[in-house]
Amino acid sequence: MKEMPNVLWLEEIKKEDINSVGGKGASLGEMTAIGLPVPKAFVVTAQAFRRFLVEAGIEEELFRRLERLDVDDNGALESVARDVQDIVLAAEMPDQIRQEIVDAYERMGADGTVVAVRSSATAEDLPDASFAGQQETFLNILGESNLLDAVQQCWASLYGARAIYYRAKQGFDDRSVNIAVVVQELIGSEKSGVMFTSHPVTGEPLTIVEGSWGLGEAVVSGSVSPDNYVFDLRSERVVDRLIAEKEIMIIPEGKHGTKTVKLSAKQRTAPVLSDAEVARLATLGKIAEDHYGVPQDVEWAVVGDDVFILQSRPITTIKRPEIPHGGAAGQQKGTLGVVLLEGQGASPGVASGRVVIVRDVKDTSDVKDGDILVTKMTNPDMVPAMRRVSAIVTDEGGMTCHAAIVSRELGTPAVVGTKKATKLLKDGQIVTVDGEKGIIYEGAVEAPAPAAPTAAPAAAAAAPVITGTLVKVNVSLPEAAQRAAATGADGVGLLRIEHLILGLSKTPGWYIENGEEETFIAELYGGIKTVLDAFPGKPVWVRTLDAPTDEFRNMEGGEDEPIEHNPMLGWRGIRRDLRSPDQFRLQVEAFKRLWAAGYDNLGVMFPMVNHPGEFIKARAMMKEWGVDVETATLGVMIEVPSSAILVEDFIRAGIRFASFGTNDLIQYTLAIDRNNEHVAEMYQPKHPAVLRLIDYAISVCRESGVECSICGQAGSDPDMVTWLVEHGISSVSANIDAVPRIREAVARKEQQILLDAARRNA
Ligand code: PEP
Ligand code: MG
Repeated sequence: MKEMPNVLWLEEIKKEDINSVGGKGASLGEMTAIGLPVPKAFVVTAQAFRRFLVEAGIEEELFRRLERLDVDDNGALESVARDVQDIVLAAEMPDQIRQEIVDAYERMGADGTVVAVRSSATAEDLPDASFAGQQETFLNILGESNLLDAVQQCWASLYGARAIYYRAKQGFDDRSVNIAVVVQELIGSEKSGVMFTSHPVTGEPLTIVEGSWGLGEAVVSGSVSPDNYVFDLRSERVVDRLIAEKEIMIIPEGKHGTKTVKLSAKQRTAPVLSDAEVARLATLGKIAEDHYGVPQDVEWAVVGDDVFILQSRPITTIKRPEIPHGGAAGQQKGTLGVVLLEGQGASPGVASGRVVIVRDVKDTSDVKDGDILVTKMTNPDMVPAMRRVSAIVTDEGGMTCHAAIVSRELGTPAVVGTKKATKLLKDGQIVTVDGEKGIIYEGAVEAPAPAAPTAAPAAAAAAPVITGTLVKVNVSLPEAAQRAAATGADGVGLLRIEHLILGLSKTPGWYIENGEEETFIAELYGGIKTVLDAFPGKPVWVRTLDAPTDEFRNMEGGEDEPIEHNPMLGWRGIRRDLRSPDQFRLQVEAFKRLWAAGYDNLGVMFPMVNHPGEFIKARAMMKEWGVDVETATLGVMIEVPSSAILVEDFIRAGIRFASFGTNDLIQYTLAIDRNNEHVAEMYQPKHPAVLRLIDYAISVCRESGVECSICGQAGSDPDMVTWLVEHGISSVSANIDAVPRIREAVARKEQQILLDAARRNA
């Protein structure tokens, strides 16, 4: 590591300093350099941290303890993390470093300058390598001693249990991981929020600004529904605005920390931004976008007449037509070049890149932005890497496997069930993946420009086709909520909450065992709320946990999961919640808090029910925990043939809705494992037995006036949906990418039914 000062001001930071200042510090430096109004800040460099470790004489002891640690031994992990953090906190900060931090703070304006102190972790070759959120941030720090304390606490947070575990699992050597600390003037924001410099789905020149009162944490964490303004960069006008009911704001509290306060009735509904302010923000956003060359996701704040930009990073959801993407409508199978491999096209789009074979979650640290991730089957630990890649290829799985579901939500092309991708493809090889046709080509081949731009969802949102049958959307990742809402869907027919939990790398049991129930509830609450906020006034059916035990195995706490010969037929869905009341209670607590916060659009759906007794018992437990079960919208998935056959009894038991989980219903009706590529061609959604069960359940629901829906993958198939509309289904729920074509299929069938009726009566 070259000689580097202990402290660097933003104005002094150059691009190549990223290893010293971390991704956060480098990006603030770059924004300052292009003239964006960034609040004053300096960075305590990674080298300062290393000097501290050496001069305080704690380096060897600390690394020795970490090296001896088995991170899978939870007790040892917690205790070593605590000890190592204590060592860092107890060590004396060298005078030189202390003095430089104090001097810099004085230059900032000294007494009375309130700062935010943020960690910016780096690895030697991967600056800011996916460590986001694992180290501490301290807002509202005032005075020298509080500042020095906060810096040292940021350093110590590099050794939190979660951070140590994550690095070990990602294959990082603790000795090569550093931490820089950004000390930035805390803007006492009167208002703040985020903006997308271009439309996040279509890439159109529309700046979307979201804003609320107080500090930006409220909008970023999703704890408030912000106002939404759309600024057209072509006409330079605000073309749309939605003034939300903003219930709370986050403000600094005293000399340390923040607090949440309720807003007055007047502030709640008052617009946060004037048109002139929106225009000013959009102009700054444009500067950032022009500089970085790609649309940006920007955090901003306003104090009096001053506007500040706090952060800018690329938006990842836009599908740019210049990249060979987009399904190439009308193209014949294999016309793009030499076909290496075929499988099932599980998530549309075409992308080229370098193959990285991932055999173990540790290998995901080799995965770089834009690579093609090739693996036997993805699992929840791989989601951070799945976010970075341009396409995903698996050996195993079908259209409803983990890789398929997550890729569709991320908008990343994917081909699953190739049987031999990990054997046939080689690390570093360049290939092109067509996620619609299910083909992997040799080399980087050019796909024809998409026949229709990928703006379909937004076009649908702008001029929605009205259908009598509701067309809803499935969501698994909260980050996909905005894209899902942009389709103009009539609500969410399935929110799979296990993805909120699986991404945390700990089992529900771990949270319960370790007294971390509140953390678990907060994660669920935050994730679900993000989705509810994206669908104001529209129904959102949240499904209780449904993860087979094998999906929990790699997580912390996973060692306690039973080994099952057939997890698909095992301890999952409602049957598990009923026998693990604590796990169920924590979910119900999150729902209760959301209902109490006014989210009346939240409905709860129980998975894998096979007898009405399960519904009755689940409802009784919710009642015991204080839920008003008479008014709550509670329903079930029909995924097991028995529940279709007994649907009348379910209705008598009081379900308010039923939704076909065809992914499971097909496998349980036909005895075909949905994830087994060897029998994939026998997995027939339109098998007469499956259709007969569905037809029967629809007709019983219709007679009783109970909403009947579908949220399995078959609900994204226009032919199947046409059949379902003909047979009287009341709503359908499709994947994000499929909503426009499903809406069209529904509308067409409905028109035909009306026309036929009119002709009969003529
Ligand atoms: C289904 O079974 O159709 C369903 C939607 O649930 P999952 O795919 O999560 O099992
Ligand atoms: Mg299912």
